[in-house]
Amino acid sequence: MHLDVEDLSDRIDILKGDITVLEVDMIVNAAHKSLLGGGGVDGAIHRAAGPGLVAECRALGGCPTGEVRLTGGHNLRARYIVHAVGPIYQDGRQGEPDLLRSCYEGALRLAEQHEVQAIAFPCISTGAYGYPKEEASQIAVETVVNWLTEHKAPRQVIFCCFEPIDAKLYRKRLDAIFPSGD
Ligand code: ADP
Repeated sequence: MHLDVEDLSDRIDILKGDITVLEVDMIVNAAHKSLLGGGGVDGAIHRAAGPGLVAECRALGGCPTGEVRLTGGHNLRARYIVHAVGPIYQDGRQGEPDLLRSCYEGALRLAEQHEVQAIAFPCISTGAYGYPKEEASQIAVETVVNWLTEHKAPRQVIFCCFEPIDAKLYRKRLDAIFPSGD
């Protein structure tokens, strides 16, 4: 299945701010592999979701790098949380690009399986895990665009950018793919 470019650009948004307050069906967490919480977006999601989340996560027994796990949203507006364990960046030659791509693909696959309308991603691995923002944004955008080209679901993908620099990078990448876009 191939969709035309206008349909595709309508299905991708950039939002600035805190992912925990978004009214979407599914949000993605840049999780620690213990799944028991951490700093950054992981800590923010656990604080906002409440103690029920860590209890659910504990039962999952962790998650290897590059993989994803699904939980409920607990006190969040989102119905689901996908916990994606991004790679810790070393020098880019330790499989980091494939591992990062597999986080995005895994989350998109779960969104399709659970028939969610909209999924929101943070900029996985680009905080404490040190992935260079330019390269990470390229992987994120490419992976999402490729997925949406081939799949009807999810209908909407949101890149939730907490830092202004990230919103700029994603805008630049999307404008390069959709030159006449919004
Ligand atoms: P990682 O360990 O995968 O690098 P971090 O949480 O340290 O994860 O950073 C990932 C990205 O999430 C960074 O761009 C950071 O600015 C962003 N971030 C931090 N808090 C939030 C939040 N509440 N909502 C959305 N993004 C956030």
